Amino acid sequence: MALLLAGSRRPGRASRSRLPVQWQYRIPRMLVDKHGRALEDLRISVTDRCNFRCTYCMPLDQYDWISRDQILSYEEIGRLAGVFARLGVRKLRITGGEPLLRADLEDLVEMLARVDGIEDICLTTNGSLLADKAERLKRAGLNRLTLSLDSLDPATFARMAQRGDLAAVLAGLSAAIETGLTPVKLNAVIERGVNDHEVLDLVDYARSRGLDLRFIEYMDVGNVNQWTSEKLVSKAEILECVGKRYPFEPLSGPRGSAPSERYRFLDGGGVFGVIASVTEPFCGACTRARLTADGRLVTCLFSAGGHDLKSLLRSGCSDEELSAAVQAIWNRRTDRYSEERLAAISSDQGYRPEAVRKLEMISLGG
Ligand code: SAM
Ligand code: SF4
Ligand code: SF4
Repeated sequence: MALLLAGSRRPGRASRSRLPVQWQYRIPRMLVDKHGRALEDLRISVTDRCNFRCTYCMPLDQYDWISRDQILSYEEIGRLAGVFARLGVRKLRITGGEPLLRADLEDLVEMLARVDGIEDICLTTNGSLLADKAERLKRAGLNRLTLSLDSLDPATFARMAQRGDLAAVLAGLSAAIETGLTPVKLNAVIERGVNDHEVLDLVDYARSRGLDLRFIEYMDVGNVNQWTSEKLVSKAEILECVGKRYPFEPLSGPRGSAPSERYRFLDGGGVFGVIASVTEPFCGACTRARLTADGRLVTCLFSAGGHDLKSLLRSGCSDEELSAAVQAIWNRRTDRYSEERLAAISSDQGYRPEAVRKLEMISLGG
C-alpha cells in the first residue's frame, strides 16, 4: 500500500532510502489519514476493570470483561509503543478502566520511558489508589498526571462514582502534587442536575491549589450511560457561570491537537479549560489513536470496533509488519464522529445515540 507522507520538510520515501540505515530508523515519518491528520498521540488502556462505576462512563456492575490471557503484557505494550514511536507518536497516555488497578504499573512506565522518540508520558486516573503509588510512578519516568474529580461533595461524589471514596481521591491528588507529578490536571465531567451546581466550587478548589482544571462536556460514549442532550451542560453555559465570579480571557497561541480550549483568569489565579467535544467538536485536529487492553487499535472514541494488533503481535511477526498494519489502518482513517453528531443534533431528524453501536469507554480510556 502506498503511504501518504505529509510535510515537505520531512524526507519522503525516496530520500529516506538514500540515508544511512541508522538515520532511516530515527527520522520519524509523518503518517496521515484521509483528512490529512497526523498520528501523534497514543492512548494505551492497560485494563478494562475499574473500582468505580461512574454513571456517565461505566454504570453497570458487570460487563463482558476481557479475559486475562487476552490482556497485553507490559512487554507487548512496550514493543507496540516502539512501533508507534517510529511512526511519529511522541506522546503516550496510560489509561483504562482504572490503570492503577494493574499491578506494578511503574514497570510499564519505566519501559515506555526508554522508548526512543517518546517525549511525554501521562497517566489518567481516578486517583483512588494513587497515594501509595505516586512516588514510584514519578521515579519510573511518569511526566504528568490527569486526575478525574467531578465533585468535592461526598454525597454527589458517591452518586456519580457509585463506589469509592472522595477522601482517598483527594489523598491521591495531594500525593501527586507532593511528588512533583505536576502540572496536575483535573478532569471534571459536568452533568445537568447532578454536579452542575459545583462548577464554581471546583474552580475555587483548583485555583487554591494551583491546579489546571478542565471541564468536560458530557458525551454519549459507549451504549449504556443513558446520554441525552438534556444532561449536557455546554461549554457556553460553563463559561458563563465561571465568568460571573472570575473574569477570564482565552489563552493566546496555537491550540494544536489539544482537546481543551484554554482560558486565563484576569486576576492571575491561573488557567482552566473546557473540552467541548459535543458543542464544538475538534475532529479536524484529532491526532489520537487508542490501544485497548486486548491490543485493538481504535481510531475514534466512538468506533464500533477496533483493529486486532494482538493476533499479529502474537503470531511472531516483525516490527516492520506491525508498522505496515498500523500505517494501513491510519491511512484509511476517516473518523469525524463528533462533527457528524453535531450536524445530526442540529438537523430535523435529530440525534439518536442508541442508533449507533459503539465500543464501551472502559476499553478505550477516554
Ligand atoms: N479511570 C480513569 C479516570 O477516570 O480518570 C481513566 C479512564 S476514564 C474512561 C478517562 C476520562 O474519561 C475520565 O476523565 C472521565 O471523566 C472521562 N469520561 C468518561 N466517560 C465520559 C463521558 N460520558 N463524557 C465525558 N467524559 C467521560
Ligand atoms: Fe472508572 Fe474512570 Fe470510567 Fe469512572 S471514568 S468508571 S473511574 S474508568
Ligand atoms: Fe477524534 Fe473521533 Fe473524537 Fe472526532 S469524535 S475528535 S475523530 S475521537
